[in-house]
Amino acid sequence: MKVELKNTTKKLCVIGDPVMHSKSPIIQNAMIEALGLDYIYLCQPVPKGEAGRWLEHAAYAGYAGFNATIPHKEALFPLMDEVDKFARKAGAVNTVCIKSGKYYGYNTDCGGILRALADLGVDPAGKKVLLLGAGGAAKGVAVALTGVGATVTVCNRTVDRARELCKMDPAYMTPAGMEPEILCKLSAGSDLVINCTSLGMEPAGADFPDLSFVDALPPGAAVLDAVYAPPETSLVKRARETGHPAANGMGMLLHQAILALEHFTGEKIDVEKAKSAALKALGENGCSC
Ligand code: NAP
Repeated sequence: MKVELKNTTKKLCVIGDPVMHSKSPIIQNAMIEALGLDYIYLCQPVPKGEAGRWLEHAAYAGYAGFNATIPHKEALFPLMDEVDKFARKAGAVNTVCIKSGKYYGYNTDCGGILRALADLGVDPAGKKVLLLGAGGAAKGVAVALTGVGATVTVCNRTVDRARELCKMDPAYMTPAGMEPEILCKLSAGSDLVINCTSLGMEPAGADFPDLSFVDALPPGAAVLDAVYAPPETSLVKRARETGHPAANGMGMLLHQAILALEHFTGEKIDVEKAKSAALKALGENGCSC
């Protein structure tokens, strides 16, 4: 992969602490090259607590924008001049565009999940969703789903964390535990299951001890696993074996990146071209996803 640098080339980056493991530069530079855009995407460590200083620096240094990961998403939110509806509800931004010294914040994690669900043939509006996990990924998914009128049961190992997340939208969200009997009962009445726990993730993480809740799903219910490595998690495998449409988290990951690039450039991106360039680059960089 090579990005041709010119005097006109606009700078983008991802900030985080830690951030050196981020796949965003591989994904974004591959898409930039494939689409012939005049941008370069870098990796920028920014220590916790320094998001405000970084913002001033980024504007001064002429950055067109940047993505943010842990721990800056919430810290950036109050520093924006304008935010989109997803960022407002989540209280967190993962994409910042800098224009004429003003900061525009977006949360493309939320839009990314809706596009990934559309790829799976799922319109979550009015649907009953079983959301596993109550961490950062689950929050983005919950914001997106409740925003389109889905009702969400949040099941988490630590139930207090699920309760806390459900305070965001109590009319549409209910907390629960993650014991096998509870999951089986809830999945029988669900249209969609989304896994936002780290269960099943490579390398050698813990996996679901019991997948019988997948067998309890009604016919046609879909399964989306936010985990994208390995390409077919045990959850996705079981869902496919039992006839349910299922996908891993690669669609979510790529769609949030494509949406961010659309914000940075102000251009509509050729999604298929961008996706295939990013997947090829990830493969070449040893990602098993
Ligand atoms: P996080 O904030 O650390 O949350 C981790 C979640 O996993 C919590 O709900 C935690 O439950 C649960 N968990 C961890 N170990 C568990 C176990 N042994 N049994 C049951 N539950 C367990 O992490 P995150 O950022 O939300 O990421 C979660 C997953 O989503 C990761 O696999 C990550 O790779 C993936 N992800 C994918 C995308 C994408 O674009 N596809 C984006 C972000 C994240 P407790 O609260 O009980 O600890």
